[in-house]
Amino acid sequence: MAEFCLDCWNKLNHTHLTEKDVTLSDEYEYCEGCMEMKTTVVFLTPPRRSKARRGGRRGTGRYTAR
Ligand SMILES: [Zn+2]
Repeated sequence: MAEFCLDCWNKLNHTHLTEKDVTLSDEYEYCEGCMEMKTTVVFLTPPRRSKARRGGRRGTGRYTAR
């Protein structure tokens, strides 16, 4: 799996994530974007505002867009 530092990740994905939006590796990894040893993106931290998802499974089924 390719590893990318935050800068390269943003360039590749056209995002503007910060260190708070992602989980970075604890150790330096080889970034395949800029060819440097950097902390790389391990996975994305879900944005806080999408927390409203819990428990809303059944019940109001509005906007069942089809
Ligand atoms: Zn990089």
